[in-house]
This record gives sequence, structure tokens and C-alpha cells, in this order.
Amino acid sequence: RRLSSVEVATFFLQRINTLGKTLNAFISVDEEKTLAAAQAADRLIAAGKAGPLTGVPVAHKDIFCAKDWLTTCGSKMLANFRAPYDAHVIEQFNAAGAVTAGKTNMDEFAMGSSNETSYFGNVISPWRRNDGSTAALAPGGSSGGSSSAIAARLCPAATGTDTGGSIRQPAAFVGISGIKPTYGRCSRWGVVAFASSLDQPGPFARTVEDSALLLQAMAGHDPKDSTSAPRAVPDFAAAARNPDIRGMKVGIPTEYRVDGTSPEIVALWSTGMEMLKAAGAQTVEVSLPHTKYALPAYYIVAPAECSSNLARYDGVRFGLRVPGKDLAEMYQNTRGAGFGKEVRRRILIGTYVLSAGYYDAYYKKAQQIRSLIARDFSQAFEKCDVLLTPTAPSPAFAFGAKADPLAMYLNDVFAVPASLAGLPAMSVPAGLNREGLPL
Ligand code: GLN
Repeated sequence: RRLSSVEVATFFLQRINTLGKTLNAFISVDEEKTLAAAQAADRLIAAGKAGPLTGVPVAHKDIFCAKDWLTTCGSKMLANFRAPYDAHVIEQFNAAGAVTAGKTNMDEFAMGSSNETSYFGNVISPWRRNDGSTAALAPGGSSGGSSSAIAARLCPAATGTDTGGSIRQPAAFVGISGIKPTYGRCSRWGVVAFASSLDQPGPFARTVEDSALLLQAMAGHDPKDSTSAPRAVPDFAAAARNPDIRGMKVGIPTEYRVDGTSPEIVALWSTGMEMLKAAGAQTVEVSLPHTKYALPAYYIVAPAECSSNLARYDGVRFGLRVPGKDLAEMYQNTRGAGFGKEVRRRILIGTYVLSAGYYDAYYKKAQQIRSLIARDFSQAFEKCDVLLTPTAPSPAFAFGAKADPLAMYLNDVFAVPASLAGLPAMSVPAGLNREGLPL
């Protein structure tokens, strides 16, 4: 028997309200809204107007504005902010008849790699090590609520955003598929801004094919985002269903053999090469000589843009306001109380690298590096069609394991180059390590 959309929504809501609470994967759940959307989907189906996503519950990272839903971005600053309109991505999902399953937890303003910076608390991965350890593991970040929700089967589909790995790394940590589209493929309209030249919405699902279906719904030109690409959206799902990679050249970047990468990941990387060869592809060694500068350049560019974007949270227009004796004190009180430690660190770094005396030494240099990194990729793609690399240098780690911010930033080493170059990138689960954790 074909289940109705209401039955499907009811099933997943029940999991969200039980397991989802344990994992702290959601910030907002609204059964009434979700069930009303499911009823509307059932009406579309009855009218013969259903598309592939009609009635499918989709959880949205709490960075997407969704009309009348809380949109907190994981921050105290926006803890009570109700979006007055839908993000373009949300509009597209609604138009496809998808059902919003809730808003997922995330690192504050999408800054983090473990979901430990959320004002609403850590998100827990449903995975455990198989060595008897009961330590809770990070689901990756910043879209950890979405990754944890898919891995725990709280919903079949979710959205995220990726600025420097926030879709790919959480997908890798919980063994699901996640796509960071080409910059400009999905509109940033209605997405709370972190680093505008890097931010890109994308999907999470259990399989690549499901992710492709979601991407097809999310993608498309939006005149309200001047960086949105005016390009037709190909049939991603059809391509995923008929994967023919015979004759494809898969580049293996020499510089991604980075010290400190888990040996199991290096071994699985070789297995991946063998899998692709067995399917008819051929591997070629390529060089991306500026790789080692990508991480430092990212951690200048992203904070610089964040410091500028987050200047809007001033207690005047929307979000938190903490009064003071005059305007300046009100700003200080509001921003001091509303932003967590990591966000404040990024704002400080960003304003520093943009300040008059340091702009040329840091921000301008980082922008130059960014061009060189993009050029590295263009040159590599003269020799190959795609690249195969690890997503992260380690499997999921326990909370508190990377208390030093630099150690946390290092986890993004393989993710940020594609972001700086605006390239698409996808995480595909490829195996488990000795402790039974996904890689
Ligand atoms: N972990 C990276 C950071 O903290 C990436 C975050 C993201 O992609 N939103 O900046």
C-alpha cells in the first residue's frame, strides 16, 4: 500500500520527537505546520500533480529563512527571530510539494566543524565506536543537525550550507551523501550570511541519487541573488541513476597526501581509486601546488566577510537587544551577549585583517592566494575530469577533542580549497574504519 504523505510525516515526526531529542538534532519542530504541508501534498497527489519530492519530509538547516518558522542560525542573537519570508531554496521545495520536517541544529552562524558552537547545545551523532566506548561523537559541522538527522533516519532528506566544508564534512562523519554545489548554483536569498563569496546551499541524503533529486529542486537561477547562475538545471537524478564513468580521468592531487591524515583514510582513498578503475575510469596524479595555503587563506577570507556580514546584528533592527545607557553601550551589550565565543573570535580576526594597517598584508594576500588556488584547479582539470580526495583527515571525533581552535580548523584542510575556487564537491560514504565509524 502506498502511504499517504500524512502517514509518512507522522512516522518521521515521531522519530524526531523521540530520538531527535536525544541527539538534539532539531531546533524547531512544529507538528501542525508539518502535518498541514503533508495534507497539502496529499491533495497534490490526489490531483495527479505530484513530483518526485511531493510529500517527502525535508529538514532544513536553521540558517534558511522559512516563513513563520523560527530561524535562529544556532545563535542567541536570533533565538527569537521568526522569518517573515521563505528563502529561495525553501520556496522551491514548497513548490515541489516537499514537507518541511523541522529546522535543524547547527554551529552558531555556521562557524564550526563539530556542532559544538550552537547556542542550543551540541548535536550528537547516532554513531558509536565499536570498542565499547560510549563517548558521544560529533556529527560534524556546521550542518550537524542535518547530518545527524539523516543518519538516524529522522527524515529522508535535509538541507545544509557549505562555506568551507559544512555539508561535506558532516556527511563524511555520519556516512551519508552530501553535495556542495558550484558557487551560484543555489540561491543564497534568505540564507543567513556567513561569508557571502563562499556560502552555498546544498543537500544531504542517504544516497547520491536522493541528493541529486534534492539538488534538482533547490538549484536554479534567482534574480534576487546577483551571484546566482543563470544556467539551466540539468537532470542530476537521471545522471546519478546511470553512472557511466568509462574513460573518465580521475585526478589524485599529490598535495592532498597531508601528514596527520589517518592511515585508514589514506588506505580507503586507494581503495576508492581501485573502485573507480574497476568501473572503467583511469586515475592520474595531478598537482595543486598552492594547497597548503588554502586553509590559512580561508581563515582570513571567511572571518573578514563574517565580520562585515555580522555587523548588521546591532540590536536596532532585528534579533536580540540588550539595552545600555547610550547607543554605543547598547551595541556592546547586545553583541557581547548575543554572540558566542567562536563567532566573536571570527569577528575579531575579520576586523583585524580588514583594518587599514593590515589589509594588504592579510586580506589582499589571501585574495591573491585564492586566485592561485582557483588556477591550480583549472590547470589540473586540463589533465582530468574530476578529483578523488578524502573529505576530512579524520573520522568523527569526540566532543572536546579539538578544544584548540586551530586543531578544529585543521579538520577543514581538504574541504576549503574547493570552496575558495567555487567548485562543486560531494562526499560519498566509502567504508568503515577499525572502530566501525564511517569514512
Ligand atoms: N568549518 C568551517 C568553518 O568553521 C566551515 C564552516 C562552513 O562551511 N559553514 O568556517
